[in-house]
Amino acid sequence: MEIKTYGANKIGGCITEIRSGNTRIIFDYGNNLDDSPQIDLEGLTYGTPQYNAVFISHYHLDHIGAIDRVLKDIPIYIEKTTKILYDIICDFQSKPRVNVKTFAFNKPITLLNDIKITPYLVDHSAYNSCMFVIDDGKEKALYTGDFRNNGYTGNRLLPTFEAIGKVDYLITEGTNITNDNTHIIRKESSLVNDFVRIIQKYNQVLVLMSASNIDRVTTLLKACNKTGHTLIEDIYMAHLTTTIFKTDNVNVPNPISYDNVMVYKPIYFNKKDTEVKDKYLNCFNDKNNSDMLYKPFIMNIRTSMLGDLRMFKRKHILTNSCLIYSMWDGYKQQEDIKNFLKSVKALGITIIETDIHATGHASKELLKEIIEITGCSKVYIIHSNLKANKN
Ligand SMILES: [Zn+2]
Ligand SMILES: [Zn+2]
Repeated sequence: MEIKTYGANKIGGCITEIRSGNTRIIFDYGNNLDDSPQIDLEGLTYGTPQYNAVFISHYHLDHIGAIDRVLKDIPIYIEKTTKILYDIICDFQSKPRVNVKTFAFNKPITLLNDIKITPYLVDHSAYNSCMFVIDDGKEKALYTGDFRNNGYTGNRLLPTFEAIGKVDYLITEGTNITNDNTHIIRKESSLVNDFVRIIQKYNQVLVLMSASNIDRVTTLLKACNKTGHTLIEDIYMAHLTTTIFKTDNVNVPNPISYDNVMVYKPIYFNKKDTEVKDKYLNCFNDKNNSDMLYKPFIMNIRTSMLGDLRMFKRKHILTNSCLIYSMWDGYKQQEDIKNFLKSVKALGITIIETDIHATGHASKELLKEIIEITGCSKVYIIHSNLKANKN
């Protein structure tokens, strides 16, 4: 088995190639989170197809966002609910939908030369994230994708690694490997009380977060249940949470099964294609009314919702409002986020100084534990700020 990584020493947009005999497989093909150029590979994105399959670990764009560039004859495999969620993500983010094959957890997929790829569920800030065991009959590799053990399904992580047992090669994310404070990594569940402490002082609580961080949505609803605020999901988040509820029958906070979850339709959404609007805008009408904005609420927002906040100001909705930053602080370096926060402040909305966030990535201590459990002879660290060749 041969393993090659591309772009391993940056966070986001890394690619892993595993080759056994004539079979070549790619794991994850996403966009960079920085402004480095997209990695193109001969036989994957141009020329004659030379790869047998692309496997995607989860719906974060740094893992999946470039699959529309993959040559048409190469099959792309995605977990089945992730595929449905990614179609919604594409529609909302104006990206082309892509034809893919789907898989289910714990069910091996056999490719040419009897290479077996088995997907397992891992805890991460994206719903239904996967890791993969690749077995060519002689050797085994484990590709972790992004993972952690501090989310709501974190307690299942070590038992899964233990059940997989020994592998020859480990390809793991190392987002937090250069962070010396990972021993203080917080549990997602511990954020509930932090939110409660802040939101009980405000009537309009705006949360700058990833709409697809489903664990965080759960945290927000737990906080709302303690303070009596209504959870307002923007229409994008509402479609994601409702899809999970309908597809997997997992009762994540969604407007269909929770009385205290409402839906907001951002103004920018009216600029979308008619096709997208027809599909998404006329839903949840019974969960969307102007009254909800005049009672205490928490709402997820994004930079494209500045127009909505200005409208809230004009309509005297913002009586006692704050914004909580609730995602990776690396995004704060991005110009659009910087400008957005400035404009929010100018509207008289209090920006809460301390972020409320729990990482989606493994701590150093967890990485050490995984390396030990797998007993691997070689570790490839990807998705990290480590300098190259420090594997
Ligand atoms: Zn990632
Ligand atoms: Zn991720």
